Amino acid sequence: MRTQVAIIGAGPSGLLLGQLLTNAGIDNVILERQTGDYVRGRIRAGVLEEGMVGMLDEAGVGARMNRQGLPHDGFDLAFGWRHHRIDLHALTGKRVMVYGQTEVTRDLMDKRAETGGVTIYEAGNVEPHDFGSQPFITYEKDGVSHRLDCDFIAGCDGYHGASRKAVEGKGLETFERVYPFGWLGIVADVPPVHHELIYANHPRGFALCSMRSTTRSRYYVQCPLDDKVEAWSDDRFWDELRRRLPPDSANRVTTGPSIEKSIAPLRSFVAEPMRFGRLLLVGDAAHIVPPTGAKGLNLAASDVRYLFDGLREYYGEKSDAGLDAYSQKALSRVWKAERFSWWMTSTMHRFPDTGAFGQRIQEAELDYLVHSQAASTSLAENYVGLPY
Ligand SMILES: Cc1cc2nc3c(=O)[nH]c(=O)nc-3n(C[C@H](O)[C@H](O)[C@H](O)COP(=O)(O)OP(=O)(O)OC[C@H]3O[C@@H](n4cnc5c(N)ncnc54)[C@H](O)[C@@H]3O)c2cc1C
Repeated sequence: MRTQVAIIGAGPSGLLLGQLLTNAGIDNVILERQTGDYVRGRIRAGVLEEGMVGMLDEAGVGARMNRQGLPHDGFDLAFGWRHHRIDLHALTGKRVMVYGQTEVTRDLMDKRAETGGVTIYEAGNVEPHDFGSQPFITYEKDGVSHRLDCDFIAGCDGYHGASRKAVEGKGLETFERVYPFGWLGIVADVPPVHHELIYANHPRGFALCSMRSTTRSRYYVQCPLDDKVEAWSDDRFWDELRRRLPPDSANRVTTGPSIEKSIAPLRSFVAEPMRFGRLLLVGDAAHIVPPTGAKGLNLAASDVRYLFDGLREYYGEKSDAGLDAYSQKALSRVWKAERFSWWMTSTMHRFPDTGAFGQRIQEAELDYLVHSQAASTSLAENYVGLPY
């Protein structure tokens, strides 16, 4: 089999890139390790920057998001038992869209099926080859080995994928910080405690009140890295969440049975460069951010923006310029989001080694932040997403 762009991974970055390419008349095939149902069911991020919203519209998959998504003009910071609203729209003229990654994935998968895009699910042992000159991918499907020849390989296969592994020892440099805590998160079909997100700094640890819709809430509490989900009954979770919120919010939390509960470690990670000949790394394959700044999914989208523009230029105008600039352009935005996510993580969480002094410093920083127009604007600019 032959295609122009072989995409490894049917996560948001692979599906979005695939749809933009299909719409532009550029042939592509997606190879995905999991089943379609598994991909469709994954629950992850949920806050979309305007840039990503625009790309979903451009890909022709924005209709349901524009109907059902929740545009948010601000969020609350809670510390010292009080709430302080960050008015994103007043500070930047922009807003964010709350719309679950699960829904984004579903819309992209439906569109791909409708427009005849080829996705090979349950592709095993996917391996990129010869990406310095004439790239191809080998994989197995139903016990049979296959070969997919292509012009380019887009490595959209996440942190544990095959693409980055293929370039280890070939000039890849990595940068990493692992944080000494995780996030215990639940999803519950109860109305959110507040119509906007609440990010809470508390001496017991960070908490986040988020949502997927007006009837589905997504809540998180910071927990030790070695904590086990089994140790957290729903009642224990709700108690802990309420203890970390100012009393007026705590009293308004509607509790109910969780429909998902998991612990995620927090990590910052960047792999450089993001291009190796005709293999290009995209999204989580090249970088991870702690979820505090809601940047992971949005960074995958900005990589797709730069790569899609480069590929369109290559096929349309026979120019390599966009592809040559891909790694540098993408990394410049990635590092700014890494900085922001690291800063927000450092300011909002309890660190095991900083004690009461660290807590007071965080509270002083947050107090400065909410009372300084300049500092609030800086936070808001980064949260709504830096320009592409
Ligand atoms: C548990 C969790 C919670 C998260 N929560 C948030 C959040 O609240 N906010 C936020 O902004 N971000 C969050 N993120 C990050 C966000 O979900 C990711 O940044 C986003 O999914 C990146 O998209 P991607 O397409 O680059 O990678 P992925 O979504 O990881 O997709 C990669 C795809 O490649 C496939 N694949 C992997 N290996 C292979 C292989 N060898 N061969 C073929 N296919 C392969 C995978 O099955 C997957 O479908 C979270 C991530 C996780 C894991």
